[in-house]
Amino acid sequence: MGKLQKRPRFESWGRFPTLPAGMVPLHWTTDFPLPGPTGAKQLPVGLGRSYGDVCLLENGTLLATPGMDRLLHFDPTTGVLRCEAGASLQQILDFAVPRGFFLPVTPGTKFVTVGGAIANDIHGKNHHVAGTFGRHVLRFELVRSDGSRFVCSPVENQDWFAATVGGMGLTGLIAWAEIRLRPIVSRKIDYRGVKFHGIAEFLELSRTSTSEYTVAWIDCVSTGKNFARGIFMQGDHTAIPGPLNRSKEAKLVFPFDLPGFVLNRWSMKAFNALYYHRQFGQEKSGPVDYEPFFYPLDAVLRWNRMYGKSGLLQFQCVLPRESGEQGIVEMLKMITVAGLASFLAVIKVFGDVPSPGMMSFPVPGITLALDFPIRRDKSFELLDWLAKITQEYGGRMYSAKDARMTAEQFQAFYPQWQEFALYIDPAFDSAFWQRVTGRRPRDE
Ligand SMILES: Cc1cc2nc3c(=O)[nH]c(=O)nc-3n(C[C@H](O)[C@H](O)[C@H](O)COP(=O)(O)OP(=O)(O)OC[C@H]3O[C@@H](n4cnc5c(N)ncnc54)[C@H](O)[C@@H]3O)c2cc1C
Repeated sequence: MGKLQKRPRFESWGRFPTLPAGMVPLHWTTDFPLPGPTGAKQLPVGLGRSYGDVCLLENGTLLATPGMDRLLHFDPTTGVLRCEAGASLQQILDFAVPRGFFLPVTPGTKFVTVGGAIANDIHGKNHHVAGTFGRHVLRFELVRSDGSRFVCSPVENQDWFAATVGGMGLTGLIAWAEIRLRPIVSRKIDYRGVKFHGIAEFLELSRTSTSEYTVAWIDCVSTGKNFARGIFMQGDHTAIPGPLNRSKEAKLVFPFDLPGFVLNRWSMKAFNALYYHRQFGQEKSGPVDYEPFFYPLDAVLRWNRMYGKSGLLQFQCVLPRESGEQGIVEMLKMITVAGLASFLAVIKVFGDVPSPGMMSFPVPGITLALDFPIRRDKSFELLDWLAKITQEYGGRMYSAKDARMTAEQFQAFYPQWQEFALYIDPAFDSAFWQRVTGRRPRDE
């Protein structure tokens, strides 16, 4: 068992807010519960790839899980992998891809733990066919601060399973989990990118695509005839047997915190134009390695430093399909006018596959995700407007990417929150949960 360290800084990916906390590294699944009273509330954390405060707890004790990262058992006949919850998706890919298996669902970075993936019930580019990560979790062990440990699955302790998948780390520590991987015959993805102009065209491409993975990049800076232009990206694991082992991978590390003024309306505009025109023709297709297809941002480690020390705010909402088109157009107009838009705004249509978690974010509809540099005079106000539009159109926002929702908004987006609260471990809390239950003001 690790010793309580002296207040190391644990940051979420947005680096906002930053809150002091103690941290206890866990190495074994038996390291929790902690032996003595910590005198502070606790919260398990993974690799801190959540953007806001869902993985933060001011003056609390963070239970750091990445050292609890063993792959415990793999059955190649069924693809079922059992691992400790601190194992990262990167570790799983390094193990599984050479053996002809892939993650059933993956987010836009492989630097997340299995525990973090379950606790936020993450989604990926195949949501419309595969649903969320939690749908592929067969079982996990939940450990409570009173020392009780029990296995949860869709058929065993179902209510605890539903509360913990998407439960934001509040129901207890996930010690290990079993997930079902999917077979592949090559590292390659058959890719096709198609340019579009406007949300209606994007929706039509989403409706007619037969690909397993779909997502679109959307230009949030251009106006006039280029308003809402983008590239619809689709892919499938290739059916042609090919290499499974990785060729050498070069990683860049973003070396320093960029001064805030570098990211301004003009640099964003230049980036968005370059990104759009990197694909010359209307369509581009061919085989690509899975790494750049799924994890383009992972090629630059610590890219969040581009936003400088003040950090960034993410916003992700989902709006119901019927009213979504108009709501998204309204949001994009507001974003272009504010001139704060981000490098990488993505839009996707979520499918009908039900999410297994009581508090899971995905519901059928159109989801928009983007990030903004923090400019105190503008960004908070813009985020508040976007949250307001989300509410007006009957949508909801994603807790894993949020640092701004008010208690009133959260409770309207997730009316089941009180039922969920019954499952919270009495020793656990988070800065997010304090905020959305009205016990903590928003950080400014
Ligand atoms: C570049 C980038 C792209 C992303 N793309 C996507 C995407 O496409 N789709 C998507 O859904 N998300 C996406 N995310 C968000 C990310 O997938 C989630 O925030 C994920 O939960 C982070 O996992 P983590 O291991 O870093 O956990 P943390 O961020 O450290 O923690 C996340 C939550 O999990 C809880 N937790 C962690 N470990 C445990 C445990 N063992 N037991 C109980 N609770 C635990 C924490 O308390 C916290 O509430 C992206 C993030 C980045 C930086």
